[in-house]
Amino acid sequence: MGALSLFQLDGRRALVTGAGQGIGFALARGLAQAGAAVVLNGRRAEALEQAAATLRAEGLDAATLAFDVTDADAARAAIDGFEAATGPIDILVNNAGIQHRAPLEDFPPEAFQRLLQTNVASLFNVSQPAARHMIARGRGKIINIASVQSMLARPGIAPYTATKGAVANLTKGMAADWARHGLQCNALAPGYFDTPLNAALVADPAFCDWLERRTPAGRWGKVEELAGAAVFLASDASSFVNGAVIHVDGGITATV
Ligand code: NDP
Repeated sequence: MGALSLFQLDGRRALVTGAGQGIGFALARGLAQAGAAVVLNGRRAEALEQAAATLRAEGLDAATLAFDVTDADAARAAIDGFEAATGPIDILVNNAGIQHRAPLEDFPPEAFQRLLQTNVASLFNVSQPAARHMIARGRGKIINIASVQSMLARPGIAPYTATKGAVANLTKGMAADWARHGLQCNALAPGYFDTPLNAALVADPAFCDWLERRTPAGRWGKVEELAGAAVFLASDASSFVNGAVIHVDGGITATV
């Protein structure tokens, strides 16, 4: 097999959670451009339909599957139903995530619980049913979206930092349990990207100044710059990569 064809995703189907906007949408577009049929998940069916229509207008294969990743029963029913009615999910990207900013001494307990449910429990809720089908087929790819915050802390987001640390370690645990069944489970750790999640930071000149000085590349990331690493992790090119956390962050985690 030629080196470039190792990256082709023709004939594969990828489910991307939180794919209606931001990083999830960019990852879905990148996987579809590499040949995959993509299935966009989120909670708002109408927004998902619009996102899928955008991809279809580009000649890409896109469908939608709306469910709340914090609802384990809904995730299982949606995935089992999709597998039965439409076909295999070969690649799962656990991208859906939320942020809440507040000093730890003022952090609302319900916001802490929501972060745990959305950023961590969701990986279990969605991956378990998807992995059972993958295990039965003896192959599958799971890509979890971690963060620079998996490794480093910043003031005001300690619970988010805890959840992203958990994502990195749960990725290693998935690899430990599922590599023997033919699955590759890895994580992508983005640095700072201009998405709706970061709207307040993008609008803050002092933060932008800090970020540009702190990041060796000297700028925010562009969401399309995450696609290459996602295609690598989704494709045969990464057939012996398991439990890895790949940083796409302009060098921020490599430096002090
Ligand atoms: P956005 O807020 O732009 O998008 C998040 C998406 O997740 C939305 O489409 C939202 O859709 C979906 N979502 C949220 N909660 C749920 C839920 N319970 N069930 C299903 N879907 C849900 O965020 P980003 O694109 O910036 O972030 C995506 C991921 O990347 C997150 O995990 C984030 O932590 C991570 N990340 C982001 C970085 C950045 O710089 N932006 C850096 C490092 C990591 P809807 O509301 O319609 O359900």
